[in-house]
Amino acid sequence: MNTSQSEALFARAKQSIPGGVNSPVRAFRGVGGTPRFIARGEGSHLFDVDGNEYIEYVGSWGPLILGHRPKPVIDAIAAVLELGTSFGAPTARELELAELIIDAVPSVEMVRLVNSGTEACMSAIRLARGFTGRDLTVKFEGCYHGHVDSLLVKAGSGVATLSLPDTVGVPAAFSETTIALPYNDLDQVEEAFRAQGDRIASIIVEPVVGNMGCVPPEPGFLQGLRRVTEQYGALLIFDEVMTGFRLSRGGAQQLYGVSPDLTTLGKIVGAGLPLAAYGGRADIMSKVAPAGPVYQAGTLSGNPLAVSAGIAMLTYLEKHPEVYDRLEKSSAELAACVPAGACVNRVGSMMTYFFQDGSAHGRHVRNYEDAKRSNTAVFSRFFHHMLERGVYLPPSQFEAAFVSAAHTPQDLAYTAQVIREFAANP
Ligand SMILES: *Cc1c(COP(=O)(O)O)cnc(C)c1O
Repeated sequence: MNTSQSEALFARAKQSIPGGVNSPVRAFRGVGGTPRFIARGEGSHLFDVDGNEYIEYVGSWGPLILGHRPKPVIDAIAAVLELGTSFGAPTARELELAELIIDAVPSVEMVRLVNSGTEACMSAIRLARGFTGRDLTVKFEGCYHGHVDSLLVKAGSGVATLSLPDTVGVPAAFSETTIALPYNDLDQVEEAFRAQGDRIASIIVEPVVGNMGCVPPEPGFLQGLRRVTEQYGALLIFDEVMTGFRLSRGGAQQLYGVSPDLTTLGKIVGAGLPLAAYGGRADIMSKVAPAGPVYQAGTLSGNPLAVSAGIAMLTYLEKHPEVYDRLEKSSAELAACVPAGACVNRVGSMMTYFFQDGSAHGRHVRNYEDAKRSNTAVFSRFFHHMLERGVYLPPSQFEAAFVSAAHTPQDLAYTAQVIREFAANP
């Protein structure tokens, strides 16, 4: 496979952009080699600047549940370009998107639009502090909630991929507001609340983790978080930036039947444009400025370009509930084909092949400690085996792969064939 153009661009990019990329995991540091510079996408396929074509399972890290350039989204963007890209004043479209979100996500009564998942999570934990008058946040090791100062403690995603210390540039006073606990361990949550429950404002959690690779909640875990937060008067925040509109139209909270106080959304809600949101109980959201005293603002928040894409996406998903059946079927087919030397975790169209014997410690990967036991050297060989044969997976052991509605039976059959050709011990 010729990658000379990508190599030349990457060498040049490293001169003017830190590490050559605008978000760390794109740099292939977790797997080695040269990242492909992408020229365009169509459906389930990516085309790089050297003319190589890939079936891809990254989907821009989550937003592209319908694949690249879905017609309803592209048409909506084209139409709004005739009117303007940003007004810095309210529009009817923002209201339409807010109502679509409220209609879809069971626990959301009011919602505020922002520009990134990071912003949504930062705002949600601030709001929780403002509402409860408490300072501490409980998070879980290996979960990622954006690059919010206080939430980088034991974070997943790129922090996990690069094995970075989580405190460089973060004042100790900020990290000290965070209690990081192992995922799926309710006893430790109860212990933390027994020790200082009157100081904890919220628990923020990925209801299904994607950012240490895919790790599902064990039965009772989310319900337990709901119970403990209620008992101690803390708020439960579901970070559904990845799971929202992916695991079902109502996200993980609909799938598991647990109702959080606040929810953060991103990725699919913006259909590939920069848009995210946080929302929840009306009495809590009413504390956000200008309705209340908790400040949060944004020059481009609710801009018509991103909002139109979001409306088109959410309207499509509302009118085509069969998308979720199709995703389940495609994903189950792929997850049935496990590469040699790996075990698989999957919920709906999120999945990860962890390169470890899933039975060695008598269970599947259920937290960050388990995920870290994976053999990242074998993962890297697997990744490059797939890439060389035209299948583009997330370039890290600690990320989830996504199946989209654009993947065809041919895509899936070819992917399965290439997986079967991988020998863990060549
Ligand atoms: C991607 C992600 C974020 C951060 O969103 P950005 O738009 O990259 O800032 C936060 N939480 C979760 C669960 C995510 O997957």
